[in-house]
Amino acid sequence: MLEHFFSPSSVAVVGASQKPGKIGHDILNNILRYGYSGAVYPINPNAREILGHKAYHNLASVHYDIDLAVIAVPPAGVMDVVEQCGKKKIDSAVIITAGFKEIGPEGTRLEEELSMRARDLGVRIVGPNCLGIVDTASSLNASFAAGMPLPGHIGFFSQSGAMCVAILDWALGENVGFSRFVSLGNKMDISETEMMLSMAQDENTRVILGYLESIEDGQHFMKAAREVTKTKPVIIIKSGTTSSGAKAASSHTGALVGSNHAFCAAFEQSGVIRAESTQELFSYAMAFANQPLPKGPGLAIITNSGGPGILAADACDRSSLHLIPIRKETADRLREFLPPTASVYNPIDIIGDAPHERYEKTLEVVLKDEMIHAVLVLLTPTAAVDPEAVARGIVELAADVDKPIMTVFMGERRVRGARKIFQDHSIPTYGYPEDAIAAMDAMLSYRRWRERSEIEYQRFEVDRSKVRKIFASVIKQHRHDLIESEARRILKTYGFRLPESRIARTTKEAVKAASEVGYPVVMKIASPDVLHKSDMGGVRVGIENEAMAKDAFFHITSNMQLRQPRARILGVMVQEMISQGREVILGITRDIQFGPMIMFGLGGIYVEVLKDVAFRIAPLSVEEADAMIRDIRSFPLLRGVRGEPAADIEGIRDALLRLSQMAIDFPEIIEADINPLLVCPEGRGAVAVDARITIQE
Ligand code: ADP
Ligand code: MG
Repeated sequence: MLEHFFSPSSVAVVGASQKPGKIGHDILNNILRYGYSGAVYPINPNAREILGHKAYHNLASVHYDIDLAVIAVPPAGVMDVVEQCGKKKIDSAVIITAGFKEIGPEGTRLEEELSMRARDLGVRIVGPNCLGIVDTASSLNASFAAGMPLPGHIGFFSQSGAMCVAILDWALGENVGFSRFVSLGNKMDISETEMMLSMAQDENTRVILGYLESIEDGQHFMKAAREVTKTKPVIIIKSGTTSSGAKAASSHTGALVGSNHAFCAAFEQSGVIRAESTQELFSYAMAFANQPLPKGPGLAIITNSGGPGILAADACDRSSLHLIPIRKETADRLREFLPPTASVYNPIDIIGDAPHERYEKTLEVVLKDEMIHAVLVLLTPTAAVDPEAVARGIVELAADVDKPIMTVFMGERRVRGARKIFQDHSIPTYGYPEDAIAAMDAMLSYRRWRERSEIEYQRFEVDRSKVRKIFASVIKQHRHDLIESEARRILKTYGFRLPESRIARTTKEAVKAASEVGYPVVMKIASPDVLHKSDMGGVRVGIENEAMAKDAFFHITSNMQLRQPRARILGVMVQEMISQGREVILGITRDIQFGPMIMFGLGGIYVEVLKDVAFRIAPLSVEEADAMIRDIRSFPLLRGVRGEPAADIEGIRDALLRLSQMAIDFPEIIEADINPLLVCPEGRGAVAVDARITIQE
């Protein structure tokens, strides 16, 4: 996949320049100086030779095959070069040139034309507005970056060229190697998804790293990521998540930024590891590229000082790692050589006067314990210790174990040499214990993701033609909001449990309806114009007899006359009262990039204040529905506190799955909520007592 981009036999640089400092010069220079062994053709109508290579007038005047064209001409000339590529059957081009979508409507138009033409001609494109691409296996540096990444196993793609520059500089400083390095630019043709898939197939790439501001096709990305993450970790930093970040991103690459909720859900559901900061991206990259995944949560910490050990233990507490008690056999072996004041519990404190031999012996014993799946070695540079000797010892022991080892050597001047040793031997080393724990935790979650069972979807039998008919009639009446009876019919078709209800237009009808439904009942106003019925005094619950029913009918109708006299009133709905139900809210919204999203939260009047809600992208698997129920902070309330009966969690799951199917079946539903779904005690199901659905043609 994308072979001609990463291992071309020949490359042309269109817009190559003789002047140092010009992009067209730097690119050619980078291609020539880092050992690329294919043919290189500078294209420039005004030069005969550039950097010792014969220059050509245009692509057509090169009488050899060209696999890849790197284009660095002014924006107005790009179209013509792409035409030439088409004529010469060059199927791959990197457009470095800026001045397209990112500058506004004018540039967007230019980019669209270019995109269409390139597709017709069969020319695949990276960019425009990018830094270029690098492949260390073929020693190709077709970019204007200052420097060449070291060979390694990380494949990196980025929507921002500046991020590429920063990452490259960091990597060179830390001795971190890359397989591929790609600046995606405006993603006119080749998107993050295609790049990720191509890196998944590249045998030199073990870890895929990405910086994104937007995702082109969310559903497609998720599907691809789900496949890729089965074999290779994908770590992505997504910017533009806060609202001010979002603004910066759209003026930056003209990208549409999806809501943060959608990204969180999409990454979670497709096994993508999300880095929250550049720092985190680096620290995860270091861990994943060089260490085996932990086989379980058991972590041991070895330290020569108390404070950092406690910080690490606290961080561990907030993670899914487990600071396991050291079992007796191991503790006994440690006691044989540790001083009596040392602690053989976890963290294992080998105390301040520990020389490097003590570190080595301790690590050796700990690594042999199969209950321990991962080790973190902390060091404070006391006078007693030679940090470099400790580092050498760790490197040696790490060479033949199949467990992840990470190190945190606190300080700067005295540990610099030790850090260098770790970098040279691919042992992840961090400045702070929290960073190391976060990276280890990410590795453990990823391992669990890989080991999870195949996802299972549940389909319900639904007569969709019924729903289609209702939508058609709503659209015919030029409406978007469904009235309650329509929404109820749709939910019923999707197998939701609804309360028994009747419409009454007079007091007499209300009394009759109530006795048919059976006391206690709830009465609420039935009107297409009233959105929030209780706010208008339009709902009465706990009606137990005829007198109360008459009273409720009177009050509800007069409240309406008083507060919303113009509202069209269909009558009063007399409804079965659901007792002991806990209120939850379920909803559908649509995200620009990922499509249908399902929401779940604890209902009631505080829902908007507490924002205790969980989102997932539809379709939901059974496990995902369960996970989103457990995700909300108030989940313990559903399980029941202080002798309350547990709520029927299965009823919620069932409702979520039905709603998810509805969202997938009918893309015209742009918004819906069931507020509340009343969840009865365990075994008694859940009832949708109020619903709203909004559609669009
Ligand atoms: P709205 O949201 O328009 O104010 P609802 O139909 O959601 O109207 O009713 C408001 C509240 O009344 C619900 O949140 C719930 O607490 C209660 N309620 C409504 N219908 C029932 C019912 N059938 N059984 C029990 N409680 C109900
Ligand atoms: Mg409601």
